[in-house]
Amino acid sequence: MKSVDYIIKADYLLTMEVDLSVIRDGAVAVTGSDITDAGTFQDISGKYTSEKIIDGRNRVVFPGLINTHSHAAMVYFRGIADDLPLQVWLEQHIWPNEMKWLSSEFVADAVDLACLEMLKAGVTTYSDMYFFQNTSGKQLQKIGMRGVLGSGIIDFPWKDVAETPDDYFTNCEELINAWKGNELVTPCVAPHATFTCSPDKYIRAKELADKYDVPLHTHLAETQYEVAECRKRYGKTPVEHLDSIGFLSERVSAAHCVWLTDREIEILAEKKVGVAHCIESNLKLASGIAPLPKMLNAGVKVAFGTDGAASNNDLSILGEMSTAAKVHKGVSMDATVVDSRTALLMATRNGAEIVGLGNKTGSIRPGKKADIVIANLDKPHLSPLYDIYSHITYCMRPGDIETVMVNGKIVVDKGRATTLDEAEVIEKAKAWQNKIQAT
Ligand SMILES: [Zn+2]
Repeated sequence: MKSVDYIIKADYLLTMEVDLSVIRDGAVAVTGSDITDAGTFQDISGKYTSEKIIDGRNRVVFPGLINTHSHAAMVYFRGIADDLPLQVWLEQHIWPNEMKWLSSEFVADAVDLACLEMLKAGVTTYSDMYFFQNTSGKQLQKIGMRGVLGSGIIDFPWKDVAETPDDYFTNCEELINAWKGNELVTPCVAPHATFTCSPDKYIRAKELADKYDVPLHTHLAETQYEVAECRKRYGKTPVEHLDSIGFLSERVSAAHCVWLTDREIEILAEKKVGVAHCIESNLKLASGIAPLPKMLNAGVKVAFGTDGAASNNDLSILGEMSTAAKVHKGVSMDATVVDSRTALLMATRNGAEIVGLGNKTGSIRPGKKADIVIANLDKPHLSPLYDIYSHITYCMRPGDIETVMVNGKIVVDKGRATTLDEAEVIEKAKAWQNKIQAT
């Protein structure tokens, strides 16, 4: 018998590997940061012993959820400006507030809040686009959460962040040199969007990502405004434009992809671009509804993203799953699209693959990192239970997430964060709110 650090028992175990089968009375063995084995409890308990056995009666165990598009620090602007058209919301409210408040200190405190919210909702990895990502990386080390941290690139200077656009590339390169190879933090190059980044910025971003073998993250085809602007400037739609300059590849994850032609969907599939579907943000900002069923049919790899909390307004991937599974049925008048298995696959394995972490996380498989969620099924809204996938997609709430493990360490235990002082994080959020409101 081999000794392992943890044996996690579960009434229901979803590994999200190959056939998406449900293992009843399952168990996962964890050693250090890694998953050692997974299978039935009978099988696992016959091969391994552990001093720490987590009892999973009336519980479901599944891989940590992946948020493939966020601006975590924007959580401090949650609810600051709602019910406005996107360009008004962005240009008159969000950008001026960011101009005024963004600093390393702001990002450090805000990232704590965002990570607390995500971890308690079962999200173990997020892919981010923002500034001050070196600060975010330090917070992630402290918190013990996994992140793909994209350092933003735009055409114009941004107060302390960049005196000239060249500085964004220096920032990116410094971030890469500081974090490449880190267990939890993956540095990433993040040109903002076709209407804020000229082609030379996109080309330089790609060259930088290729040089260091790190992911690329951008916004793409989010609004009709963006498509019109792109046609005006370059005579092409956004996906065709980025394809024509050689930017698109498997390295790229693209947020939104709402306004696509059929040809553009083909290009995304051919170039193996990952798409971060941010349906709640797109609905709230009235940007439109991305053609998710069409993309899935064409073989485009799609996962879920929340976008920033200022346009969602929470960071729950469970919420995205439920919304997407319902909205696409309603819009297509076809109740078979985005079924519950597809939704959880998008939220886990697909998510990990599109942010470049497919070998590390996204499913429960020996050799992958132990990013694992345990949810309590002993709840009125989860009873009775005929199909576990259906319950996770349509009924489960963040409050049902009980235990969360990232990289083999328990970061949420019985619903409470172990690496963050929850009261202190919320107090800091209130203090920042008071400062922001006072001006
Ligand atoms: Zn975004």
